Amino acid sequence: MPLRTVKQYMEGLRDSREVYVKGQRVADVTQHPDLAICIGHGANAYSLAHEPELRETFTFEQAGDVRNRHFEPLTSPDALRRRSILIEEHTRQARSTLNLTKAVGTDALAALHATSVAVDREHGTEYGARVAAFRERCASGDLSLVLAQTDVKGDRSLAPHQQPDPDMYVHIVERRSDGIVVRGAKAHTTMTPAADELIVLPTRAMSESDADYAVAFAIPVATPGLRLICGPLPDHRRSELEAPVSGVNIEMETLTVFDDVFVPWERVFLAGEFRHAAALATTFATFHRFTAISYKLPFAELALGCAVAMAELNGTAKAGHVREKIGKLVHYQEILRACIHGAWAEALPAEGGLFLPNPVYTNTAKFHFASQFHDVVRILQDIAGGMMITAPGAADLASPETGPWVRKYLQGAAGTDAETRLRLLHLIRDLTASDFGGYNLVVTLHGEGSLQAQLLQTLRDTDLTAPLAAVERIIGPLPAIAATSPSALPVLR
Ligand SMILES: Cc1cc2nc3c(=O)[nH]c(=O)nc-3n(C[C@H](O)[C@H](O)[C@H](O)COP(=O)(O)OP(=O)(O)OC[C@H]3O[C@@H](n4cnc5c(N)ncnc54)[C@H](O)[C@@H]3O)c2cc1C
Repeated sequence: MPLRTVKQYMEGLRDSREVYVKGQRVADVTQHPDLAICIGHGANAYSLAHEPELRETFTFEQAGDVRNRHFEPLTSPDALRRRSILIEEHTRQARSTLNLTKAVGTDALAALHATSVAVDREHGTEYGARVAAFRERCASGDLSLVLAQTDVKGDRSLAPHQQPDPDMYVHIVERRSDGIVVRGAKAHTTMTPAADELIVLPTRAMSESDADYAVAFAIPVATPGLRLICGPLPDHRRSELEAPVSGVNIEMETLTVFDDVFVPWERVFLAGEFRHAAALATTFATFHRFTAISYKLPFAELALGCAVAMAELNGTAKAGHVREKIGKLVHYQEILRACIHGAWAEALPAEGGLFLPNPVYTNTAKFHFASQFHDVVRILQDIAGGMMITAPGAADLASPETGPWVRKYLQGAAGTDAETRLRLLHLIRDLTASDFGGYNLVVTLHGEGSLQAQLLQTLRDTDLTAPLAAVERIIGPLPAIAATSPSALPVLR
């Protein structure tokens, strides 16, 4: 099957999926006004792949078929480089908003591919073949696929089996000859109502007592018993001037409830092999954080561009403190860019013939962009001045009564017209001080795992041989030091 069109993608979303907006069941997700921006954003994964100038970036050929490049097998560092460029460019085209409708699902497929080799070897299972068949179905059908890993988790200090309510982590409640039945809920699943398929992975390491929670599978979004409860959605009535990013491209999240959902065996990729849950969870996290660092670069560029342009329009570009702050935004961007390069250039050979983005560079970059993001926002808001939240809006500019005053008093330095300055002020507000701006702060902090998760993974994967040898060279032999715990990643060492 060739690449799908936007029309075919939209038709695929018109099925029996159970989606709720403001507590009400949605009859057709492609027709609901509150979902329009998010579904339209999902569709750009299809429209952009057909743009002649983006074809090289967005597509590749396999077995005579043109396929979306999200499905290119990650069998070399160069394939990872091409994936990074794809994610960057896709985000840039969507005004700095990531689009996970194919990216996160294919990250999950890569993790399942690499880890199922070890599971099959140890348990004589056939997960690898099932993953390969499912992957081929998604790639040849040009499907969109999203990922539910984060469980609702209840009391974070307790393991899944210790929770007073056993459904705080998704688990197997019945094993049948034809498949399994699962119950529980996953939190903040991105773009589920806009996807064809949902992949489910465990979110953490599991012990033997948690064996029923060590479960991975894929289901069509329209599977009976799967209930998608949408979180806050963007206000679609705003003008493009006032919401130039969030009024055009934005993602959505759902509370994803599995109310005794049946999954046939051919779609089950882990069912009780608890020792492999950690490897699956962390391998997915590494592939997905590589996607994350790639999609963050266009935002870093946009933030830098906004700061430079705003300083020019405000007449502060030559001020020493402004230049210093802009310098910090340059560092933010370039450290990120360098780590992305290191992550693919020094990728590690992994099980199943894949290459894993270098976990230390990947997690360092993710930690860098997440931990510094609030500072980036502060700098942008500082340079923009208070007008970024008090400036008149599109209607004031268009009105014959107020428009002349707005045009006169909103002029910028060097005769910049008021409309350009207003557009820039509203862009910065949208990115940093709107509902979407607040969302950006939180998704950057928690998306792809909290800061602590990246720190732990960096510690697990950092080779301390050279640092300790440097000390020994000066003071003599040290006792054996178990400074880090072994990585759970399926890399070939
Ligand atoms: C906008 C958005 C989109 C997302 N999209 C997806 C998605 O598509 N699919 C998906 O699976 N997930 C998704 N996530 C989930 C994301 O990976 C999680 O938010 C992240 O892993 C943190 O989990 P949490 O939100 O449950 O926070 P928590 O785990 O509650 O973390 C809150 C704080 O508690 C700390 N903490 C938690 N547990 C412990 C513990 N046991 N001991 C000590 N400290 C602890 C954390 O370090 C952190 O500081 C998304 C998140 C956001 C915000």
